[in-house]
Amino acid sequence: MLLREVSYARPATVDEAVTLLTEHDGARALAGGQTLVNVMKQRAASPDVLVDLAGLDELRTISVSGSTLEIGAMATLSSLIRSSEVEVTRPILAEVAATVADVQVRNRGTLGGNICVNDPTNHFPPLLVALGATMTIRSAAGERAVTASDFFVGVFETAVGEGDLLTRISIPAGGKGAGDGMSGVTLGAHGTYIASGAASVVDGAWRVVLGCVAAVPVRATAVEERLAGGVVDEASARAAVEGLGASLDPPSDVHASADYRRSLAETSAVRAVLQASERAKG
Ligand SMILES: Cc1cc2nc3c(=O)[nH]c(=O)nc-3n(C[C@H](O)[C@H](O)[C@H](O)COP(=O)(O)OP(=O)(O)OC[C@H]3O[C@@H](n4cnc5c(N)ncnc54)[C@H](O)[C@@H]3O)c2cc1C
Repeated sequence: MLLREVSYARPATVDEAVTLLTEHDGARALAGGQTLVNVMKQRAASPDVLVDLAGLDELRTISVSGSTLEIGAMATLSSLIRSSEVEVTRPILAEVAATVADVQVRNRGTLGGNICVNDPTNHFPPLLVALGATMTIRSAAGERAVTASDFFVGVFETAVGEGDLLTRISIPAGGKGAGDGMSGVTLGAHGTYIASGAASVVDGAWRVVLGCVAAVPVRATAVEERLAGGVVDEASARAAVEGLGASLDPPSDVHASADYRRSLAETSAVRAVLQASERAKG
């Protein structure tokens, strides 16, 4: 289906982009277009103005500042895979990016776009919560920082509101004693998740997060407490995760019943925890 008529602007600066998003009701940021153009074709979204971020090179940078990995919102999934900064700090980001869809989607699709959509089946929302990321959002009122836990608000809803522009994602650099893992069951080899689990450990403190079991990523805090400080092997990981499924209220759909998702969530969490634990050993 063809797109409905839409105005188009290509700002040269972040300030200009924010002004355009603020001044026009119905304006929408356009990043890689991998989701937005498709939903526009289906008439599920009908923005009046597209504010194309493609000219904003400052939003494409990936750098390490002190002990923080800074990723511009317009960094593509392919650039995460190629980044030496990602490789030495949080290589899980590159590994997960490499499993998303196909090379075309990875070359165009951005990390910012992936999380601004907040499709619960996407790879990055649960992972960024597990990594303790912070998102920086610019608006006409200035800049604000939002933790990943507060960023995801509902299905297709985030803390990025009208007139807002996500500019960067900040993630604590890993280092010694830290390890990350992600596991899940996808629709096909490179499809979106049916259920996923992401885990991160830093010096014995855990973050374990589930995807696809609710509108937003769900932190498994009881599991985190059981794992804290202890030696993690398969038996202890399974013991920590036991009962997790019963605490969840996942959706039931054509891909998986709620019960099957509960079971997949437990298995994904165990695998992610074991992967993170192995990597934390160095
Ligand atoms: C065939 C196919 C398969 C896919 N498979 C997977 C998969 O397996 N796993 C997975 O995780 N994802 C998958 N995706 C989703 C893909 O990762 C996302 O479409 C992509 O990352 C979105 O990024 P984008 O840059 O294209 O965003 P766009 O489509 O341009 O934008 C998406 C939304 O985010 C908003 N937005 C984007 N950037 C900003 C910003 N900086 N500030 C404010 N708002 C912003 C836009 O306004 C829009 O509402 C798939 C997509 C396709 C087309």
